[in-house]
Amino acid sequence: MIVGIPKEIKNNENRVAITPAGVKSFVNQKHTVFIQKGAGLGSGFSDEEYQIAGAELLDTIEEVYAIAEMICKVKEPIKEEYDLIKENQLIFTYFHFASSRALTEAMIAKKAICLAYETVESDDRSLPLLTPMSEVAGRMAIQEGAKYLGKPTGGRGILLGGVAGVKPANVLILGGGVVGTEAAKMAAGLGANVTIMDISLKRLRYLSDVLPANVDTVASNPYLIEEAIKTSDLIIGAVLIPGAKAPHLITRDMLKLMRKGTVLVDVAVDQGGCIETCKPTTHEDPIYIIDDVVHYCVANMPGAVPYTSTMALTNATLPYALQLANKGWRVACAENEELRKGLNIVVGKVVYKGVAEAFDLPL
Ligand code: NAD
Repeated sequence: MIVGIPKEIKNNENRVAITPAGVKSFVNQKHTVFIQKGAGLGSGFSDEEYQIAGAELLDTIEEVYAIAEMICKVKEPIKEEYDLIKENQLIFTYFHFASSRALTEAMIAKKAICLAYETVESDDRSLPLLTPMSEVAGRMAIQEGAKYLGKPTGGRGILLGGVAGVKPANVLILGGGVVGTEAAKMAAGLGANVTIMDISLKRLRYLSDVLPANVDTVASNPYLIEEAIKTSDLIIGAVLIPGAKAPHLITRDMLKLMRKGTVLVDVAVDQGGCIETCKPTTHEDPIYIIDDVVHYCVANMPGAVPYTSTMALTNATLPYALQLANKGWRVACAENEELRKGLNIVVGKVVYKGVAEAFDLPL
């Protein structure tokens, strides 16, 4: 199959859909990979590395779309890319259709085959192509939180791990899924006192088994959250109710119960946030302060670490992309239920329930 890798053109997107190692896997299996010049630079991969791995370089994004049977990307196509997409072309990327009628209508009109990373789903209902970004965001949440706990940015001026003779900081994590678990591991590793809360007792039992002794697991309810925030230095919002807006576990009123300089990192901001006062921020301007409480609410946290994010994402996407290239999308999706669930739009027809419902379109 002819595979095309365009350079991402969405603002501040430095990830790329394939690494040089990924190119080699495709080439070893007798596929041809065309990559746009400079596509990997933001993630630290030079054109030369791709060439050595066996890719052919193209000057423009137009050439990549024109030649490829399958396009592998990271972000959803933006307006400038719509007209480059051809009938029957397979596009494998994050789409998040339900949040954009314009994109949905454009892909229907283009009669492309749209296979969305975010709806590829395993038997246990986990989302294998979303998980790596949650892992990155969870780990980053502690790095960022530790930074903003510093006095110069309005934080309490406390070191997460303390030092000999001085108590460490208290870190509260709301939600013990992928983001919460990675955050807990990082905070615990730095020596903080960590509390992780979840509504699932089954999950808490598991976390209590696998996390180190400086992590307490606590059942999540409004009463215990209100108690815990009074003594927390860093609070991480990491809850998810699939398909729904995040619940506001910390309300505006509750900010006054917190100590001056407490830092809130609401990773769930992309689902509306689990802290009422949270509104999306950017890497250029990541924080704001309300009632002496520092809020960090960057909606695309993994974008700040494109090397790690690209590697983590492509580790997860490559096996699926190879199946698509080896078998063609029809056979690959017929044989692999995980991949079939990724199909959102096929040659002008919406085939994913959530997208059809979002815009009242026929299935
Ligand atoms: P997940 O499904 O693995 O975990 C969510 C957890 O929240 C579950 O264990 C669930 O039981 C728990 N939960 C639900 N309601 C709760 C409540 N009331 N109290 C405590 N826990 C509760 O999800 P995830 O992959 O960890 O993602 C968490 C959030 O982070 C999602 O909104 C995701 O979109 C977001 N995210 C954001 C970024 C970013 O850059 N900001 C990056 C990746 C993921």
